[in-house]
Amino acid sequence: MGVVALAGGVGAAKFLRGLVRIIPPQNLLIVGNVGDDVELYGLHISPDLDIIMYTLAGIVDEEKGWGVAGDTFHCLEMLGRLGFETWFNLGDRDLAIHIIRTKMLREGYTLSQATAQLCKMLGVKAKLMPMSDDKVRTKVQAGELLLDFQEYFVKRGTMDTVTDVIFEGAKKAKPAPGIIEAINMAERIIICPSNPLLSIAPILSISAIRKALEASMAPIIGISPIVGGKALKGPADRVMASMGYEASAYGVAKFYGKLLKHLIIDEVDIAHKKRIENLGIKVTVTNTLMKNVEDAIRLAKILMEAE
Ligand code: GDP
Repeated sequence: MGVVALAGGVGAAKFLRGLVRIIPPQNLLIVGNVGDDVELYGLHISPDLDIIMYTLAGIVDEEKGWGVAGDTFHCLEMLGRLGFETWFNLGDRDLAIHIIRTKMLREGYTLSQATAQLCKMLGVKAKLMPMSDDKVRTKVQAGELLLDFQEYFVKRGTMDTVTDVIFEGAKKAKPAPGIIEAINMAERIIICPSNPLLSIAPILSISAIRKALEASMAPIIGISPIVGGKALKGPADRVMASMGYEASAYGVAKFYGKLLKHLIIDEVDIAHKKRIENLGIKVTVTNTLMKNVEDAIRLAKILMEAE
């Protein structure tokens, strides 16, 4: 396995659809965040894995960045009529995936086996794996409140100020099979442009994964999800600030620290280049905005050439 990518949701998926066009997708292992997973109506939902799967399968709703293109919401409407909470947006086609995933898990498949099957059914050639087959759940502390991740993210629309992030179950969780071997054999490791504290940190909370990354001889190259001090989507900038990190490309470099060999930052952040280099991290400055697949391909080429 040549390339390993650590991935959250939308930001990662946008980048990965470029990467799979310039390297053989079979040579890519994507390690996905499943700290955001949630059980609703008896179904197991893996939002970050699904965003990546739908994007690589070419069926994602491009406008939203998640869900299936052209989906309808009749099932959710009916659930509402029956008196159930409907704050988590689940389209009808999307639900088919959750039904099949849950069926496979009930039949004894692990989450990585179920994910591999779903990817096969949808024609995704890159290997996509949850960080762990064990249950790890991201909890958000907001002052007195301890919230489940999706409660914070979707139900309450990220309105709370995050004071701590907890990865419940991480201590006991083992990496999904094959991840450590892939990291050990990788030629290149990528940290996708994802929320560092909410999407990548859960992956790094599995100590065997962090240790393998720290010991790896392969260059670990990141792309900053913070552009001009702001997240392009979601609460990454606010969460970094409230957790004591500078909300900037420099803050991203500081968060990953020694793990990173090289960080790709946006041209609007050129002022941070020297500061990041002073941390012992190489820097490439380029346009990192991915408005379309061509932008993602361009960025992927730069990343694959970075050393
Ligand atoms: P989520 O879990 O779906 O919110 O997605 P991620 O964990 O992947 O994080 C979203 C992050 O991706 C945000 O901080 C965005 O700023 C970042 N992002 C999204 N699109 C782009 C892009 O085109 N370029 C860069 N550099 N970052 C992006």
